[in-house]
Amino acid sequence: MLDIAKIREEFPILHQEVNGFPLVYFDNAATSQKPKKVIEALVKYYEGTNSNVHRGAHTLASQATEQFEQTREAARAFLNASSTEEVIFTKGTTEGLNLVASSFGRSQIQEGDEVIISTMEHHSNIVPWQILCEEKKAILKVIPMTDEGELIFEEYEKLLSEKTKLVSIVHVSNSLGTINPIKQYIDLAHRYGAVVMVDGAQSSPHFQLDVQDLDCDFFVFSAHKIYGPTGMGVLYGKKALLEKMPPYLGGGEMIKEVTFEKTTYNDLPFKFEAGTPNIGDTIALKYALDFMNEIGREKIAAHEQDLLAYATEQMKAIDRVKIIGEARNKVGVISFNVEGMHHFDVGMLMDANGIAIRTGHHCTQPLMHRLGIDGTVRASFAIYNTKEEVDRMVGSLRKIIAKFAK
Ligand SMILES: *Cc1c(COP(=O)(O)O)cnc(C)c1O
Repeated sequence: MLDIAKIREEFPILHQEVNGFPLVYFDNAATSQKPKKVIEALVKYYEGTNSNVHRGAHTLASQATEQFEQTREAARAFLNASSTEEVIFTKGTTEGLNLVASSFGRSQIQEGDEVIISTMEHHSNIVPWQILCEEKKAILKVIPMTDEGELIFEEYEKLLSEKTKLVSIVHVSNSLGTINPIKQYIDLAHRYGAVVMVDGAQSSPHFQLDVQDLDCDFFVFSAHKIYGPTGMGVLYGKKALLEKMPPYLGGGEMIKEVTFEKTTYNDLPFKFEAGTPNIGDTIALKYALDFMNEIGREKIAAHEQDLLAYATEQMKAIDRVKIIGEARNKVGVISFNVEGMHHFDVGMLMDANGIAIRTGHHCTQPLMHRLGIDGTVRASFAIYNTKEEVDRMVGSLRKIIAKFAK
């Protein structure tokens, strides 16, 4: 059994009152809170090691470089990638997706080629492909979804052809919590020779990942959604593909030699890491990964599934509450609407009770459009959340509905 009270002790931010009530933080799908270890790693770096990486001959520079590269190894292990050459540091999921759309897209997508995404994509996995397809006169296709919030595999199969060059889909939906059976989608795309990119922003916080087993070509996630700092993320790519791709940004660090006539690029992964990176946050990411590994990702998943089942049952029992997204496999995300109330008002009133949840379209406007709504209220769970907090949310929601719903 996990000692959640002890885990909560590691998160200073959770121990405060908001609007006169103990904080209930249920906005983890937007960003998770950070354990002391991560915060301390940042302070320690700026107090003791701050230096630019990969350059200086001095002691601090080599210490910073060593710690920076230790995170690369930790991220490799987290994803079970075969080599650290395949682990590229980015600003986050958004930058990873844009890097591939720009670099792979620019070099490999031609007029008339097709790119496939899905109905439940985050805007960051839609817009880069739209920009690319417009520039290249390529065609963007979208996998449809059921009313319950599951992608329709048979429809996906119909979209694939020899023209399909790339498929980019979300592993877990941030708005609905749906866990997509991604391996099946990857296998089928590969039979058509297409490359597959997986948006792992919402799977990385919740369960064990193995990019070799998935056999995805690219995988991206953000540190800030897995208990790490903001402004930091990881792009995994298969070495053979990354080697063929042109650089994304040009500048220092990504070069071997520069003359005015010609520049030779650095080896992987540095070819894709131009400029001084986000050193402190990168070093701190390792402590977030350690935090997850020490608890164990199966245990994190089990605890969150427990909360999901408990909360779903409670929410279904409330009159006027409609849960949005009822896929068979979900992570700890519950989107809902209240009949006779706007989602924004529900969020405001919950906040007045110290409960932090998200409202709106969750950066998935086309998905909201598909469902015929303009937004939802979303509660999303992390390892430090408890059933008592779910009770607080449910109790508060009942009161709000009794008082305000028309
Ligand atoms: C949060 C999120 C993103 C974007 O991540 P950033 O950290 O904002 O770059 C992309 N896709 C999904 C599914 C997300 O949840």
